[in-house]
Amino acid sequence: MKRNIILFGPPGAGKGTFSGQILKILPDIVHISTGDLFRYNLKNNTPIGLKAKEYMDKGALVPDEVVIEMVRDKLNTEEVKNNGYILDGFPRTLKQAEALSKMTKVDLLLLLEVSRDIIMKRILGRFGCKKCGSIYNKWTLPPKEKLGDDKWKCDKCGSDVVFEQRADDNEDTLNNRLDVYEENAKPLLEYYKNITKAINAENTLKMTDDDIKKALEI
Ligand code: AMP
Repeated sequence: MKRNIILFGPPGAGKGTFSGQILKILPDIVHISTGDLFRYNLKNNTPIGLKAKEYMDKGALVPDEVVIEMVRDKLNTEEVKNNGYILDGFPRTLKQAEALSKMTKVDLLLLLEVSRDIIMKRILGRFGCKKCGSIYNKWTLPPKEKLGDDKWKCDKCGSDVVFEQRADDNEDTLNNRLDVYEENAKPLLEYYKNITKAINAENTLKMTDDDIKKALEI
């Protein structure tokens, strides 16, 4: 089953976690997270990473041209053409949406809805395993085995994971990111209104496979 999906929602809505849940049902679908791609480029000091850094540090959006070209490269692969994609964190502006329409036909936009105080808690507590990328939350979703203060064993790969916030997961940057999100969401949701499905994302981890299939319309 091939699906072309946009996951849309504020920072902390759980787009990464929900992508993982979708991947269990559609294992061949390609997960494209522009935030992850930027963090990868930043870590490896690539030209894209250098361009993105100053914006990411402030919680501002990276210029459209840079993001659009990065996504174009990813969409242009056989894997995506055959198996579809989950776009996570893209498009974030109308210009990005219009560029995307020229590259591919989107089947569905899933809007993850979450209240602001839950977002704060999720983001300020979130951290990830450096080795396998599994995502955890200090308060709501820690790994099962605790090894010490702010230190656990990764459920997935078994390596040590230490609570360490993402550089842009602090309160000031977060408020800015939420404002930026709200400003851009309106025109985007209008643009995609015919293919939008809203889901309550406060408890997505409790969703069964059937709930997720229903959300994906498969
Ligand atoms: P995220 O992990 O999706 O919250 O993204 C982290 C940061 O990467 C954002 O605050 C932006 O600076 C940048 N970014 C990710 N996706 C986009 C996008 N579609 N357009 C512009 N900037 C983006």
